[in-house]
Amino acid sequence: MSQRRLFVTTALPYANGHFHIGHIMEYIQADIWVRFQRMQGNQVHFVCADDAHGAPIMIAADKAGKTPQQFVADIAAGRKPYLDGFHIAFDNWHSTDAPENHELAQQIYRDLKANDLIETRTIEQFFDPEKNMFLPDRFIKGECPNCHARDQYGDNCEVCGKVYSPTELISPYSALSGAQPVLKQSEHFFFKLSDPRCLAFLDQWTQSGAVQPEVLNKISEWIEPGADGKPKMGDWDISRDAPYFGIEIPDAPGKYFYVWLDAPVGYLASLKNWFDKGGPRALGEPRSFDAFMADPATEQFHFIGKDIITFHTLFWPAMLHFSGRKTPNAVFVHGFLTINNGEKMSKSRGTGLDPLKYLSLGMNPEWLRYYLAAKLGSRNEDVDFNADDFMARVNSDLIGKYINIASRAAGFIAKRFDGQLGEVSADGDNLIDHLQTAAPTITALYAEREYGKALREVMLLADRVNAYVDQNKPWELAKKEGMDARLHDVCTACIESFRLLTLYLKPVLPALAASVEAFLQVQPLQFSDASNLLGAGHRINAYQHLMQRVDVKQLDALFEPPPAAAAELTVPGGEPIADTITIDDFSKIDLRIAQIVNCEAVEGSTKLLRLTLDVGEGRMRNVFSGIASAYAPEDLVGKLTVMVANLAPRKMKFGVSEGMVLAASHADETAEPGIHILNPWPGAKPGMRVR
Ligand SMILES: [Zn+2]
Repeated sequence: MSQRRLFVTTALPYANGHFHIGHIMEYIQADIWVRFQRMQGNQVHFVCADDAHGAPIMIAADKAGKTPQQFVADIAAGRKPYLDGFHIAFDNWHSTDAPENHELAQQIYRDLKANDLIETRTIEQFFDPEKNMFLPDRFIKGECPNCHARDQYGDNCEVCGKVYSPTELISPYSALSGAQPVLKQSEHFFFKLSDPRCLAFLDQWTQSGAVQPEVLNKISEWIEPGADGKPKMGDWDISRDAPYFGIEIPDAPGKYFYVWLDAPVGYLASLKNWFDKGGPRALGEPRSFDAFMADPATEQFHFIGKDIITFHTLFWPAMLHFSGRKTPNAVFVHGFLTINNGEKMSKSRGTGLDPLKYLSLGMNPEWLRYYLAAKLGSRNEDVDFNADDFMARVNSDLIGKYINIASRAAGFIAKRFDGQLGEVSADGDNLIDHLQTAAPTITALYAEREYGKALREVMLLADRVNAYVDQNKPWELAKKEGMDARLHDVCTACIESFRLLTLYLKPVLPALAASVEAFLQVQPLQFSDASNLLGAGHRINAYQHLMQRVDVKQLDALFEPPPAAAAELTVPGGEPIADTITIDDFSKIDLRIAQIVNCEAVEGSTKLLRLTLDVGEGRMRNVFSGIASAYAPEDLVGKLTVMVANLAPRKMKFGVSEGMVLAASHADETAEPGIHILNPWPGAKPGMRVR
């Protein structure tokens, strides 16, 4: 088989925060595939970069008192412990603010423009007169035009769920300065994705097998005519006005590319940087970046999450195709990672899985690689990390079924046979044969990213080996007179089998495989080695412990909520004390003891609970409270709490809310998670005023 040349990426992480476990899952998924391809003898260039541009980073940097460049550099400096820690072996890590990306993004734009696919239009947009900048939707707040909830974002209401445009907000204000924004005209640049050429190309590209069937279902409405005879695809606004942290649009002073235009170009920029540094030459690729990318045989693959499908399966291939570049051979979409029975990843209940905490507890990164691989398939489906399941799979399967094969056989080889393997007789040969003939099935599953199925196959093979061990009981053979030859035979068959299982697990467990290669005294295993054997006379090293079991205490510690990390805070509870008010101001707020007579979940909302409150008025109040992440409804029934009893009733999506219960929380839930309802001391009765 001739060597394939692959260019593989993972999605570029936005450089406004450290990695979370969702990033790590994607990197592990891609890393396994890359290692598998290399074990097949293929050449792979595996790159990624920080996604550095855009308004959120510009604003976060401003708040932190840093330049955006410094802000992004500080985030980038923290990447390595995660990547090294989980054995994720990118060849190159770069930044979308690097010169290669400026150059490539501008060239792609020029090529699209030359192809008559760029046009300008004047649009009206909110402008912050104090900050002197146009405001992205998320930086405009105001009153919801539908339910009149205050302080809602410019794109949708978090209380009633209504989607609207920022110009529909009542009393809009800038979230940056608090100033009232003004509508201002501005010239924007558009990529004409609704051009028939683009639609025809995307129709063909998306049907070419480049996307998973379930992804094709999701995106086809953008390309295929809908009920009104038109596809959903519109032209794409690719420009932003200064000040903006990004790449300048050629010949358009004060105009920058929208971050999503230059972000995927970062894949190419990182690869180019890797070529310019000479990395590929050292791997036997003598050509330049341009020559490599111009070769039709070069294959390009992107691993991404399901939240960024349209950018990667519509906008990005169209950008590449119409700028005369290679289009991706495939975009592999994965689902989200949930933690412990589908609870949304959140630090608020200590349910998050902090990757660095995992490592700092001394937990083996390959346990996590194995566990995630066992749950990953080729489809765009969510994956759940379940602590009990994690422990069972690592301890019972990985260690109980696989590692134990070596530990049961190797001691006899060392002690009784001077570390040398012997001859294998017919039953052992049959077993080894069976393991070897599984190679095509397992390689096909890895190639299709069906890691869960591949590992299931490997564990079935391990079961066969364990059945052989149980039939032959080497520990009994060792005690019997005249059974030395049989003992040697059985232990040799076990070690040969263990080598094959290790080969099959190596893409998932690279560090463990390296230890086994040292123990067996073999060269780094490749898939072509599946047809070989160590053979009689081969010498192995003494067995040393290969992997610990998961200790339940480690898992308990992993999911223990972080302690109150208040030392670095300069303000109590994460926010300064509010402006001084008079006693008259305070007395306007009527606080009452309320009994929670009933409490239930609100269908369609993950945030809200519906409380039925008795404030001693001879009627019940209906109050919605955003505490569903912190309390189970049944835990609140019968309890006393404190409510604002004279708040104007508020109409919400799920009904009218007649008041508000008081709860304490830190301003930054990542610093100090949790919401804590107030509860009076014993003796307080419903209806009593709090003053
Ligand atoms: Zn609303």
